[in-house]
Amino acid sequence: MPPFPGSGLAKGLAVTLRTMTRKSHTAQYPDVQPELPPRSRGVIGLFEENCTVCMLCARECPDWCIYIDSHKETVPPAAPGGRERSRNVLDRFAIDFSLCMYCGICIEVCPFDALFWSPEFEYAETDIRDLTHERDKLREWMWTVPEPPALDPGAEEPKELAAARKTADKLAAQRAAEQEAERATEQAAAQASGEPPAQAPDEAPGRNGADGTPGTAEGGTA
Ligand code: SF4
Ligand code: SF4
Repeated sequence: MPPFPGSGLAKGLAVTLRTMTRKSHTAQYPDVQPELPPRSRGVIGLFEENCTVCMLCARECPDWCIYIDSHKETVPPAAPGGRERSRNVLDRFAIDFSLCMYCGICIEVCPFDALFWSPEFEYAETDIRDLTHERDKLREWMWTVPEPPALDPGAEEPKELAAARKTADKLAAQRAAEQEAERATEQAAAQASGEPPAQAPDEAPGRNGADGTPGTAEGGTA
């Protein structure tokens, strides 16, 4: 059956009308900033303190756009009679973002968590040479790196945190034992000289009063 005359025009007008009444998806950038996912690949930040100059990132970069210079330094032995050690000191770390293809391989392979993605993307330049970001600029990008997502409830504590907590607990226990030993020595010395033993800080007058009644000093009851 031949199409009804003018049906094509009506169909076209219906499409136009539908599109006109639909919400627009146009982003009014730069007046309105786009809402990017926090893990967007905008620019790479360098956390220099973590970098050991192992060169893995520069070696694995498919574009060869990471430039690293370093020199060796001798570190004196930690204990007398120990061996001197040598370590790499970073002289230059730069990424040429005019060559970078944002593959993220450098971030993946860094064994020391020294490289991170930042969602910042507004660093266009009129001179292509300015797209090579040196270490100071790469460090500045670190301020724009979002916090890592929270752990799942019930997830295992990260190894680094567990190790730090264990060390802190050990130090606290060691300090408490030292204080206890000091107190015991003082008490023994006081008993030997016939003086009353020194009171522990939480038994001092003012908190509970010298006669055992509640004191009126700060922290006591009024
Ligand atoms: S993101 Fe890829 S291309 Fe860019 S510096 Fe890292 S490894 Fe090289
Ligand atoms: S892989 Fe990481 S630690 Fe090694 S040189 Fe690159 S940024 Fe530094």
